[in-house]
Amino acid sequence: MPHARPTLRIGYLYGVEMNIYGDRGNIIALSQRCRWRDIAVEIDLVGIGDPLRPAYHDLYFFGGGQDKEQIAVAADLAGDKGKILREAVEEGATALTICGGYQLFGHHYRPHNGPELPGIGIFDITSEAGPDRFIGNSVLELPDGELVGFENHSALTFLGPGCESLGRVVIGAGNNGRDGSGGAKYKHAYGSYLHGSLLPKNPWFADRLIVEALARRHGPVELAPLPDNLELAAHRRPPAQLTH
Ligand code: GLN
Repeated sequence: MPHARPTLRIGYLYGVEMNIYGDRGNIIALSQRCRWRDIAVEIDLVGIGDPLRPAYHDLYFFGGGQDKEQIAVAADLAGDKGKILREAVEEGATALTICGGYQLFGHHYRPHNGPELPGIGIFDITSEAGPDRFIGNSVLELPDGELVGFENHSALTFLGPGCESLGRVVIGAGNNGRDGSGGAKYKHAYGSYLHGSLLPKNPWFADRLIVEALARRHGPVELAPLPDNLELAAHRRPPAQLTH
């Protein structure tokens, strides 16, 4: 009997409020790479005040944003959504979080001005606004490949023992410019400061997320290889000089 066509259910968290430096490109890369392989994709944009269906999504994406947006989003996450997301990750859902979204997947983010913003504590990390902004191209080395991207954050993020660093910083500041850690990983949840967008330039990592996310409801799935000529050219391109 032929296998039913798999569907990837994506919960796109705060896609209107938290979408900076092209983070939405991650959603486009995930969905296009699925469509090229005849995998169906459902994308639910979940904004402030919208309900989040428990245990429904295979993959959550949460992009970056400025402190102003983070304040509104942190308040919304403090309700049912935070609990639903924590349970989902514990039960094996995949998540990719970038910059401001990454910070709010941790315990808290303390901005320069104003009160500490509570996060949802999926990552054992804390973040606080630091004296400088880290702006520039960045490379992280993971055990199974390399991620290239662009960082722009003032926060310093520190990892606790309950999660591991996503990768080792080769270029850039990573979590805090001090300890060489870059991003965080807990079960199938990943956090990183890399905008860019991240996934179009790192197709191996996009495919890893798709495989892990589909495995939740469909079991092991083998993805047909894609040519990726443009993606790999973008990945290899030496960082351009930044102009301000
Ligand atoms: N509050 C953040 C900072 O550290 C968020 C920035 C971002 O998401 N690009 O600057």
